[in-house]
Amino acid sequence: MNYIIIDMEWNQPSSKADTVTEPVPLYGEIIRIGAVKLDSGLDEKDRFHCCVLPKYYRRMNSAVGRVTGLRSVSMTYGQRFPDAYDAFLKWCGEDFAVLSWGSEDDKIMNANLAVHGIDRGRLPEFFDLQQIFAHKIAGNGRQYGIAAALEYYGLPADLKAHDALNDAVYAARIGRKMGFDKYLEGYEEMLRAAEEKKKEKYFFTYHRIESAEAAMSSRRITLCRCPLCRRIMKRGEYARVNDTLYVTRASCGRHGEFFVRLRLTLCPDKTYSVTRTIKRPSPEYIELYEKSLEKLIKM
Ligand SMILES: [Zn+2]
Repeated sequence: MNYIIIDMEWNQPSSKADTVTEPVPLYGEIIRIGAVKLDSGLDEKDRFHCCVLPKYYRRMNSAVGRVTGLRSVSMTYGQRFPDAYDAFLKWCGEDFAVLSWGSEDDKIMNANLAVHGIDRGRLPEFFDLQQIFAHKIAGNGRQYGIAAALEYYGLPADLKAHDALNDAVYAARIGRKMGFDKYLEGYEEMLRAAEEKKKEKYFFTYHRIESAEAAMSSRRITLCRCPLCRRIMKRGEYARVNDTLYVTRASCGRHGEFFVRLRLTLCPDKTYSVTRTIKRPSPEYIELYEKSLEKLIKM
């Protein structure tokens, strides 16, 4: 079996109003396909690169242009998507698995196939190397970009990034270091376990927050989701225990009462990190909360 490491570049609509929505929303139209083929021993066998002519978004979106260095004129040559897709599938061969860094490429591929009315055919769903790296290598579930993963392994970053083929080459180099093939069999199980763990998220830390006021007025920081079902919980006002500690109660319709604590820590760069902890009510927490409420009333 061969392994295809794919990376694509896509253009985006210039505005929300220009976004194609039928038969599916097209958030990105593929303009470059880059891929590296590895054999079963993870040695490189071949490379694929193809320019794709956009049908819907022919003017370069400025943000995409900045990142890729491509311009509208860069999209006036190449193959129509159906031909490019055919050529790519042919190049993949018979027995292969496809991997990409991150989950976006697979979604964008699906959307592009749908707007062109092409059946996905024998192209399998992509494995996400970034997920394997996060859970099996780094082990912390954090999302590493390609540059961060190269650095993790001390691999050279000698190619121009945000070029489909170069990024595929980078992902292949990282993948080879990871020995990704030994994780593919347990891949679904790994994702399921990660999903379960995410659901049980009782802690979360935000970094580089300017001040306590900024933290307490930030909706994303003060928002409380149920650790079990992730639904937004109804919560009370935050009570200030002291300059760096705020507490409140919250409840989920399904999972009951929780206590929420925001702890601010001053960092060397004079910003704060804020850790939100969500716990089941314990006598200590209830006492802390009641006490801080008293304080609030006194102020
Ligand atoms: Zn819940």
